[in-house]
Amino acid sequence: MKKFVDEKANLLCPKCKKDIEVSYKDILTHKEAICKKCGSGHKFSSSDRSSLRSAVSNYERAQDNFGNAMQKLIKGADVL
Ligand SMILES: [Zn+2]
Repeated sequence: MKKFVDEKANLLCPKCKKDIEVSYKDILTHKEAICKKCGSGHKFSSSDRSSLRSAVSNYERAQDNFGNAMQKLIKGADVL
């Protein structure tokens, strides 16, 4: 299954107005996004990154819970 942190987000470069494609993982590990077109860097604030990090882990936990509940439901289904 594709991990949520590999999902891509598009940021708008304030300098050249082109899209900068970053994955959530890039944001969490790199602290900044570099525009491929004009080379300008965009730094993310550490408090914004930490709220994103906790949102990502909540999301992944919810996804795991969902997967487990589905597995249980499938295994527990009665054969008619
Ligand atoms: Zn740019």
